[in-house]
Amino acid sequence: MKTKINILWFKRDLRLQDHLPLKTAIENDLSILMIYIFEPSLISAPYSDERHWRFVVDSIKDLNIKLNKYYQQIYTFYGEVIPVLKRIISLYDVKNVYSHQETGTWLTFQRDIEVKKFLKENGVKWREFQNNAVIRGLKSRDSWNEKRIDYLSKPFDNPRLDKIKPFKIDNEIFASFSSDKFISSLNFNHCMQKGGETEAHKVLNSFLSERHIGYTKNISRPEESRLHCSRLSPYLAWGNLSIRQVERAKNNFYKTSPAKKDLLAFQSRVAWHCHFIQKLESEPEYEFKNINSAYDNIRTEWNEKYFNAWKEGLTGYPLVDACMRCVKETGYINFRMRAMLVSFITHHLWLDWKEGANFLAKQFLDFEPGIHFPQFQMQAGTTGINTIRIYNPTKQALEHDSEAVFIKKWIPELRNLPTYLAIEPWKINPFEETEYNFTYGKDYPARIVDTELTYRNANKILWQIKKSQSSKTEAEKILARHVKSK
Ligand SMILES: Cc1cc2nc3c(=O)[nH]c(=O)nc-3n(C[C@H](O)[C@H](O)[C@H](O)COP(=O)(O)OP(=O)(O)OC[C@H]3O[C@@H](n4cnc5c(N)ncnc54)[C@H](O)[C@@H]3O)c2cc1C
Repeated sequence: MKTKINILWFKRDLRLQDHLPLKTAIENDLSILMIYIFEPSLISAPYSDERHWRFVVDSIKDLNIKLNKYYQQIYTFYGEVIPVLKRIISLYDVKNVYSHQETGTWLTFQRDIEVKKFLKENGVKWREFQNNAVIRGLKSRDSWNEKRIDYLSKPFDNPRLDKIKPFKIDNEIFASFSSDKFISSLNFNHCMQKGGETEAHKVLNSFLSERHIGYTKNISRPEESRLHCSRLSPYLAWGNLSIRQVERAKNNFYKTSPAKKDLLAFQSRVAWHCHFIQKLESEPEYEFKNINSAYDNIRTEWNEKYFNAWKEGLTGYPLVDACMRCVKETGYINFRMRAMLVSFITHHLWLDWKEGANFLAKQFLDFEPGIHFPQFQMQAGTTGINTIRIYNPTKQALEHDSEAVFIKKWIPELRNLPTYLAIEPWKINPFEETEYNFTYGKDYPARIVDTELTYRNANKILWQIKKSQSSKTEAEKILARHVKSK
């Protein structure tokens, strides 16, 4: 007779605290097989990068150290979900699969539809639980914020790890799904944040006890934001922390904080997390479809040369190039600079947003589909409901990197120039070229476009569409779907 078990399927919820599926699975009497599946289809998706999987591996290692105390572990597999589940079901009498609901990409959305069908056909119950304050099947945004606050106010769902019934599997039986080769192929990278619940709590505490002082002042600065922003995004994206844990910790520190305004500003950003993910939860097509269809016929021409210059950090605009080089190497850049990178590719280079969105998703260690795609579209101006913002990269540099510290850090070619020329190298004169031993257009690329001209072009087209009846009609529908009615 097959042993009766339950499965706990870890997805983007790699933590052991405030985890309702795990808590509920432990309360059930059966042994639990805890699994994580590295899916080749997802690993090879255009928005996926080695950095994401390294973060996942670090997270699982951290959880396994904790689980080891209870003679438990998370088993990892490499393979598509259904074949892995099929193998498990052929060996054990699986009663329930527990997991969080996932607001992922179109690929994971389709995969979950297939998994649901497969489990049903095999008599296995899939018990999916709400993830943070994102509500599945939400009909209207009217009461969403009340529901979010209600979720935040509830006690943590902390599992009793000491009550887990030990369960071991023979790895040999699963040899064809071994993840060893994949895991050992991942290169170590010390420039990026390390995954794991333990690390996540350290970062949270350091932010709340010290680093948040100056959050508001530094949030838009590419260099200072690295220290004064929370840097919690990858831990939230991969589920090392729940939103409720962050909110509760913030409340605990609030009374004694000398910078309450900073904490309130942080709190409002945290609220955007679920607000944005809720949009993709309700409209998974936002990954590849314009939010407002009135913008469907713009940016129809593709320019590979422009795209490559943007990707390589060789556009000739120092702040754009510095941000791109930095995010590629470290996996992080702050909100304003993300918005500027999007503005540059979509407004100034006038390229469709989708390729750029996938490329930046690969660079962001915190890639969170529900935030990423709606934010990208918002900055690209394809929603028709948001203010059109076309960032001038030179103005951004003068305002947020006025000493060119960040620019010089990431663009060594400009290090020997005085600040004003590191920000606007096209202003260099022949005399200065000799003095600084720098040839504009050779040592650093000439500007690929003139942003004064591209601004005018983008602004004209985007406003024309925004004022059109078709955009307004669509915008009303979008507002009704995603924004609370008055
Ligand atoms: C084009 C574009 C793409 C983005 N893609 C992602 C993404 O894939 N993953 C991601 O987590 N964030 C994304 N953001 C939002 C934002 O830039 C990051 O959340 C933030 O920079 C992360 O740094 P932090 O944790 O130090 O943020 P903090 O300022 O300390 O904020 C705390 C948390 O609040 C949430 N948050 C902050 N700003 C936003 C925002 N504008 N929208 C939604 N949630 C927010 C995040 O979870 C963040 O970790 C994107 C923004 C833009 C403009």
